[in-house]
Amino acid sequence: MIIKHNEGLAKYTTFKMGGIATNFYVPESRIELVQLLKSLNEYNIIGGVSNLLINDKAVFTNVIHLVKFDDNITSLGDGKYYVGASVRLQKLINTVNNDGFGGIEYLFSVPGLIGGAIVMNAGRGRQFNQQISDYIVSVDAIYNGEIVTLSKEECLFQYRNSIFKHSDYLIIGVLFKFSEMKIEESKRLKNERIKLCREKQDSSGFNFGSVFCKYNPTIMKVAPLLRVEFNSNVRFSKKTQNWICNSGKGTYKQTLKLIKLLELMHKMSLKKIEREVIVWE
Ligand SMILES: Cc1cc2nc3c(=O)[nH]c(=O)nc-3n(C[C@H](O)[C@H](O)[C@H](O)COP(=O)(O)OP(=O)(O)OC[C@H]3O[C@@H](n4cnc5c(N)ncnc54)[C@H](O)[C@@H]3O)c2cc1C
Repeated sequence: MIIKHNEGLAKYTTFKMGGIATNFYVPESRIELVQLLKSLNEYNIIGGVSNLLINDKAVFTNVIHLVKFDDNITSLGDGKYYVGASVRLQKLINTVNNDGFGGIEYLFSVPGLIGGAIVMNAGRGRQFNQQISDYIVSVDAIYNGEIVTLSKEECLFQYRNSIFKHSDYLIIGVLFKFSEMKIEESKRLKNERIKLCREKQDSSGFNFGSVFCKYNPTIMKVAPLLRVEFNSNVRFSKKTQNWICNSGKGTYKQTLKLIKLLELMHKMSLKKIEREVIVWE
């Protein structure tokens, strides 16, 4: 297991913002992970760190990075795969595509690990009704020191939500069943996705994907015009609605102020708003 002390977290996040981990653990096997969990009372978990806003002034005692403990993909035949939580989405998609299966090519651009993608029930925009849970059979997790298996129904998947979000479950592996798909078709879908991202996604700053999973599009249109501080280095994107871009010099305080301002505007207009990004205060 890799152990570091007083480790800066910003470099691990896609938003390039974060505080300090007094103890930073990178378990390299399931056994190491289970033993580590037994030895700690409190901890925070990170995967691909692509949906997290972390307070740049905070100190977190124990942070566990799940990037290495299990990145195995085991084919069980007939489109079934058992996948470790450390596996990157792109690796899973390429593996199943090469075997003639598919279904989640729209996640080819998403910089997350399988564990994080299950927690967030990662998918396409609401109008498409396509998410990773469409192909899940069951999820293995550590809960209260025990390994438990949850059926798809028990995972309570909803749009960008699951039983795992804001809970004590730690996902270790997932059983998927994918659909048959010709290699040419999966290639086409991946290329289409890459093209769409180049055209539509703002790459002018660092981001964590969508800020809110529920919002009013009309109110959100004014978001790029908002400034919480003169010369603020974080702003809502003009190109990609519902994204915040960080120039690299933005602060947590500025980012949270922007998010809270949008929430207040929705509240005053009696419109619903719900955060997608996970915030570590
Ligand atoms: C450029 C960009 C594009 C994106 N596009 C999309 C998109 O198209 N669709 C979409 O849905 N999302 C998108 N996202 C958001 C994000 O990438 C996804 O939600 C992703 O699945 C999060 O995975 P992660 O491994 O990065 O999770 P993290 O950000 O590391 O963690 C998210 C949450 O899950 C918890 N967690 C992580 N791993 C585990 C585990 N094994 N067990 C228990 N809890 C765990 C963390 O503690 C945290 O609470 C995008 C983000 C970026 C930066």
